[in-house]
Amino acid sequence: MCSMTWKSFRLWNMYYQPVDIRVPHSSLYALKDFLKKNNIPFTVIINNVQEHLVREREEMVRNAKMESKTKSFNFAAYHDLETIYNFMDTLVANHSKLISKVNIGSTYENRPMYVLKFSTGGEQRPAIWIDAGIHAREWISHATAVWLADRIAKDFKENRAHVPSILSQMDIYLMIVANPDGYVFTHISSSPLSRFWCKSRSATSNPKCHGVDLNRNWDAEFGGPGASDDPCAEDYRGPSAQSEIEVKNIVKFIMSHGNFKSFMTLHSYMQLLMYPYGYIGIDAPDWPELHDVATKASKALNSWHGTVYKVGSIFHTIDQASGTSVDWAYLRGIKYSFAFALRDTGEYGFLLPADQIVSTARETWFALRYIMKYVCDHPY
Ligand SMILES: [Zn+2]
Repeated sequence: MCSMTWKSFRLWNMYYQPVDIRVPHSSLYALKDFLKKNNIPFTVIINNVQEHLVREREEMVRNAKMESKTKSFNFAAYHDLETIYNFMDTLVANHSKLISKVNIGSTYENRPMYVLKFSTGGEQRPAIWIDAGIHAREWISHATAVWLADRIAKDFKENRAHVPSILSQMDIYLMIVANPDGYVFTHISSSPLSRFWCKSRSATSNPKCHGVDLNRNWDAEFGGPGASDDPCAEDYRGPSAQSEIEVKNIVKFIMSHGNFKSFMTLHSYMQLLMYPYGYIGIDAPDWPELHDVATKASKALNSWHGTVYKVGSIFHTIDQASGTSVDWAYLRGIKYSFAFALRDTGEYGFLLPADQIVSTARETWFALRYIMKYVCDHPY
């Protein structure tokens, strides 16, 4: 298994939107033949996926040794769940007046789900939600969220714009790992393909196939087009809306809080800043404002490293998708709902090198900070 070579292909669907797939060497010729016969345009974007996987694994091992020797945390490295959870505890301990850790419930495999709450006081203040890692393989989203947690704490401590003014009016809730079971599964080194695991790890009606796409399981046009009812599919929506305990826990938490004004979720990759809807191609009632905010946020992001983002609704930037979290949030009255798809555009895809973590996180911060400030300045 370990010496098997894989290539990453990019195909274009009927809407001329890219779809990236990974193919083992043994199926290469059959696939190319099929694509040519059906006039489906394609390019090879990663020639040897295995090489990237090996490099990433070696870097992580090297970094873990370095961190344990120096008793430090390296933001320019990917970490496993345990290390991220330890990082959260250290951060809370170092900023105990600002940050607390909330356990919102357990996963299917009984792991705790934690949210970091940044608050300067008050009861149920208007709040901003940010989550990452609902799709397990999108490691840059977890790593970005780790960096963000540290950045928010530092900016507050050092009185840097605009964090103190945002936190004087609102609370920020940050969930670094929204799909802990899936994330742990992506770290199983014995099976190279587990690194590309996207879903949760729950049992399904098919004993051979595990997991639900947690971003198709929300009660937002659940079961519509743009999600699969096949338990073996990567975008399997689950048997019913909010059937998955991970989604249920987040929904329960947000609904019982009752005062969220913004919902943001971090994914990768494709460099997109998206807003509702995903389930339908029509404009959301707040479309002009959402589009304007997203456009300005993407400009703020671009100002740092020149990274170009595409802005639009999920439907028009990716494809039709039902049961997504931003549609759910928007349909529940949380107007400022956005989904980010972070770097890159496919050169490395889900295997974005760790030396791009800090620059990705920093530019993302500029966009997030713009949106948070805007939300603060536009109460509703
Ligand atoms: Zn995703």
